[in-house]
Amino acid sequence: GARTLGAINGTRLRRRGPPFRSNKYIFNVSANNQTLLKLERVRRCYGSTLAVDQVSFHVAKGEFFSLLGPSGCGKSTTLRLIAGLEESDAGEIWLNGRLIASPERGILVPAEKRNIGLVFQSYAVWPHMTVAQNVVYPLEVRRWDTAKISRRVGEVLDLVGLAGLEQRRPVQLSGGQQQRLALARSLAYEPDLLLLDEPLSNVDAKLREHLRFELKRLQQSVGVTIVYVTHDQTEAMSMSHRLAIMNHGHIEQIDCPEAIYKDPASFFVQNFVGRLITFEGKVKENGATRKIEFSGGSCVPLVEQTTIPDGGKLKIAVRPEDIEILTNGREPGAGEIPGVVVDVSYVGSRYECAVSAANAEFVLETAPNFRLQRGQTVVLRLNEIKLWPA
Ligand code: ADP
Repeated sequence: GARTLGAINGTRLRRRGPPFRSNKYIFNVSANNQTLLKLERVRRCYGSTLAVDQVSFHVAKGEFFSLLGPSGCGKSTTLRLIAGLEESDAGEIWLNGRLIASPERGILVPAEKRNIGLVFQSYAVWPHMTVAQNVVYPLEVRRWDTAKISRRVGEVLDLVGLAGLEQRRPVQLSGGQQQRLALARSLAYEPDLLLLDEPLSNVDAKLREHLRFELKRLQQSVGVTIVYVTHDQTEAMSMSHRLAIMNHGHIEQIDCPEAIYKDPASFFVQNFVGRLITFEGKVKENGATRKIEFSGGSCVPLVEQTTIPDGGKLKIAVRPEDIEILTNGREPGAGEIPGVVVDVSYVGSRYECAVSAANAEFVLETAPNFRLQRGQTVVLRLNEIKLWPA
């Protein structure tokens, strides 16, 4: 039968299961769902550049919260405002129920009085100190007593897997170990909040993957609240309870990873996270029936009421995994478009097929036992699409 297709502005027609509710995930994080950090309409300009604008979010105690977006979208600035390394121009920042920054009210709690831990991209470890001294120093600064310090140093080095390396210097550690030392050092004094700015970007790809799992496990076992900045969607998606997608200084969407992927609030979000195939098209009305006409001519029925008028242009967005390749030689039916296989490459676990359809060219993966031929005509069944105004 006819496949229901489409919905404007990302409202899906066919939902699988109930709507995503991200607050359900917050309750998983913390039994009492207590807010630790709150930003309200925070703004920061550099001259005429609006680096951060109208940024608002809450982070629950024990939550792993990420700021994800392309380079220059305002992630680091937001983090530095929370840390107190940067002054906001407007809005409020609350930590643990205390207002720590509000230019309107003339409040600015200095960085060192915020009990916030920081780990940046470059290993912020002290090269002239041993591993142990690196961890001891911040505790001495905070006037912890000696017995408590030595107990704590043992604990955190154990936690990050550096026990036994106490007397080494940072140059005698691998990149991953140095980053773990930076983590140990900022976890040692039990900060209310840990801010991590691209902490894995200086380690090689394989180690990065390993450290991702480690960091997630560590966060779960310690229960520390983390705000994590990255431009790497895999990092943000795999570790976070919730994430904020940023674009040009503002937040496009805040949600749990599943909702970000399956229920994106904008084309930007859908296109930034995961792979996406985009077709150009327009709405075509014929009496009572409305269709989406793909550029190139193929049509699929549009059953949803949309605000886009007859002839209105739109973008049709499809995840590759929502496309089925049919090879039985019949004409495309409802919700299907014709395509041609342009190229096939074997990459071991699968084939990668370049396919051309509706004036777009894109790569689809097929199982190793499903070999298509170059030049073969196929029918693509679009199982799930989203429409966005062009
Ligand atoms: P991200 O961390 O997402 O890469 P940033 O927060 O570093 O983005 O930067 C946001 C915007 O603010 C960018 O346009 C950047 O060029 C600008 N910016 C950041 N820091 C400064 C600064 N110290 N002086 C001037 N412009 C800055």
